[in-house]
Amino acid sequence: MVQRLEEFQQTIFATMSAKAAQCDAVNLGQGFPDEDGPASMLQIAQREIAEGNNQYAPGPGMPVLRQAIASHQRRYDLDVAESEVLVTVGATEAITATIMGLVEPGQEVILIEPYYDAYAAAVALAGATRVAVSLQAKGDTWELDPAAIEAAITPKTAMIVINNPHNPTGSVFSSETMCEISRIACVHDLLVLSDEVYEHLLFDATRHRPTCTYPGMAQRTVTVSSAAKTFNATGWKTGWAIAPPPLLEAIAQAKQFLTFVGATPFQPAVAHALNHEQSWADDLSRSLEKKRDKLSAALRKAGFRVHYSPGTYYLVADFAALSNTTGMDFCMELVKDRGVAAIPLEVFCDHPEPWRSKIRFAFCKQDHVIDEAIRRLS
Ligand code: PMP
Ligand code: GLN
Repeated sequence: MVQRLEEFQQTIFATMSAKAAQCDAVNLGQGFPDEDGPASMLQIAQREIAEGNNQYAPGPGMPVLRQAIASHQRRYDLDVAESEVLVTVGATEAITATIMGLVEPGQEVILIEPYYDAYAAAVALAGATRVAVSLQAKGDTWELDPAAIEAAITPKTAMIVINNPHNPTGSVFSSETMCEISRIACVHDLLVLSDEVYEHLLFDATRHRPTCTYPGMAQRTVTVSSAAKTFNATGWKTGWAIAPPPLLEAIAQAKQFLTFVGATPFQPAVAHALNHEQSWADDLSRSLEKKRDKLSAALRKAGFRVHYSPGTYYLVADFAALSNTTGMDFCMELVKDRGVAAIPLEVFCDHPEPWRSKIRFAFCKQDHVIDEAIRRLS
């Protein structure tokens, strides 16, 4: 294996899903829903295949989907042109292509830890160096730490990766903090990769504000999102990057040699969902909010400290009152002894100590599945 990939293990999501299957456990580890997305979206994909839309899409994606993605941004008062949209193989490819297309080997990329594992791997694939800056605790949830981020900037820093709403913590960052991050990005002339795949999964009347809407950010932000989480279609691997043309050209340059294009028949289906199924996504977030509350209450009763999760379909529970082992060991015991899979947060950190007793539960599951997990945990 090449040296730059040596530090990476099998992703924790694959490891825990395999373990869950082996132990016949309720899988609240890897974040994927167990119900389908909107019926009309599924029907269109089937129809597209039946009607012969089965060859390569155009490099930047099918116009119908690029147009739908551009129109979708109008909900944030953004005027995006089709030429500023690139369809990718999930948000994952958008992330990798952004870093490979815009960061030189030897440059530094600031990641906020705990960070989604694909960021670290993309930085390594680009021959760049990651610099991890921790979230700071704020009440029962977390916030970005602008002072620590600014302190981590060096002449080699090229980019900051922000994920908001944040996986794995479920945090949503305040506009005050985001203004501060924007100021820092402008002063130091940095690019920002803004991963917004959970933009529609918000609770308690929390609202999403895209990073590119903050002062000075439109020209330096690459916005990434995906149909995976909004429309329960993680297996479709249909995502996108939105950026001003000079940035998007660089991303497309990398993307065309990673996969060239993504699967064609899903593109009109996702376009339809973006154009017509927003109320389905709103219902999804309302139902997730109830699941979050139910699982949180049960975990508290079982002795965990439960952190507040205003977004995503994850919540973080702290087991310090129950055990002093590591997160990885705790999750391994939990899946074997209790038959419930969760994800340790320490694996997403370069400085794991403060996160050692925190684990993530995914609550994007049918009620009877969550009930069974609760029964096993209590
Ligand atoms: N970013 C984050 C923060 C995620 O949680 C995920 C997983 N959905 C992705 C990116 C990857 O999304 P996709 O499945 O569309 O590649
Ligand atoms: N994004 C999902 C999660 O955080 C799954 C990602 C994956 O399996 N690579 O659980």
